[in-house]
Amino acid sequence: MNLKTLKDLDVDDKIILYRAPYDIELIDGKLEDTKRIDFTIPTLKYLIAKNCKIVILTYVGRPDGKVVEDLKTTAHASYLSEKLNQKVIKLDDCVGEQVTTVVKSLKGGEVVMLENVRFHKEETADDDEFAKKLVVGMDAIVFDAFPQAHRKHASTTGILRHLDAVAGLYFEKEYTQITKIIDEIERPFIVVIGGAKVSDKVLAIKKLANIADVVLVGGGVANAFLYQQEFNIAQSYVENTFVDGAQTGNQDIKQIVSDILSDKKQIDLVIPNGIKGVENSNIILPIDFMIDVNGKNKAIGIDELGKIDNFQIKDIGPQTITMYKEILEKTKTIFWNGPMGVFEQDEYSLGSRAILSFMKKYDGLGLIVGGDSITLIDKFDDISNFNYISLAGGATLDIISGKSLAVMPYLQK
Ligand code: ADP
Ligand code: MG
Repeated sequence: MNLKTLKDLDVDDKIILYRAPYDIELIDGKLEDTKRIDFTIPTLKYLIAKNCKIVILTYVGRPDGKVVEDLKTTAHASYLSEKLNQKVIKLDDCVGEQVTTVVKSLKGGEVVMLENVRFHKEETADDDEFAKKLVVGMDAIVFDAFPQAHRKHASTTGILRHLDAVAGLYFEKEYTQITKIIDEIERPFIVVIGGAKVSDKVLAIKKLANIADVVLVGGGVANAFLYQQEFNIAQSYVENTFVDGAQTGNQDIKQIVSDILSDKKQIDLVIPNGIKGVENSNIILPIDFMIDVNGKNKAIGIDELGKIDNFQIKDIGPQTITMYKEILEKTKTIFWNGPMGVFEQDEYSLGSRAILSFMKKYDGLGLIVGGDSITLIDKFDDISNFNYISLAGGATLDIISGKSLAVMPYLQK
């Protein structure tokens, strides 16, 4: 691996600017999720053991250059002091004299949390003067913000232009997992894709459909395929507004799905009878669904969709669950992003839970990716039961779509 890691830097007694991935918002005054802090504890403990002075930099939410009370890093600092069992000194800014004075006075092993860097508008503009201010007084950067590694901001590419950096242990783990999938795929390689945000995933799905043996589709993504294939989906959810028109070329959902399907690929895998693939492709659609008809749930086969109206598809059905599990049993590598249904409602969570229980027992090469996919694990199981988890949606999908992360030029040997 050509990533610069902690092994490549003599950190003993140094003042380290630690770029953390703590983009965690508050819900009713509490951190909505602490995994992004928990996952960085090994890096921080390593640095503390090396007697470093640690200055933590992160952004939180989208304050648009203004101070927003709810987006301060105070709660992050206090949770971190609990986890590290030592005081984390919280500052009111991330640049300026107060910061420089405190940093100068630090003793080995002490930890400081800077204020949210997005309170300065220069952050998202990747302003170079501002980036220089962020590194004043620091000896080196330890970069652990893998989930933001695809962004060009002052606290990502900006600081890296001005000071030597290595990846932290959390970054290294995320990066290794995803590159391993790309470099060491063992076949059959199966992709399971669901969720709602087709526009975010289109490039990744296209790329994955090319490299995978089979793509199993569920969730809102399946709705989009059914719609393009002219099945009746009534009032089922289909994403029609795209947040990033530039990426998708402002196409409509049918064009996007057609584009994914334009690279024809045959399935190289013996799959069970009853399969409904999309013709001449390795993309497999559900054969039945759980639908919501006037607030009641009901299983329905794909061939019956045209016979009724006023319904919403909210999960894959029992036959699809059986079929998808049989296919997954043949596989050596699995990449899973996005729930199979509206798992927030228990009656539409069975599809996602079936894949989850399969993944729990699975010991091959795999990766579970995506904010809501991880929420699903939190809701129905425990994160520690899963070997391969990525907390980074965008960055991981970018790597798998063949794009190089914006920070990589600075973190390579
Ligand atoms: P991830 O964050 O894991 O990448 P997404 O953000 O793309 O996943 O989508 C997650 C959301 O997709 C969930 O809130 C879930 O309710 C929704 N979803 C899944 N299946 C359906 C469906 N059939 N209809 C509407 N929404 C769905
Ligand atoms: Mg999501």
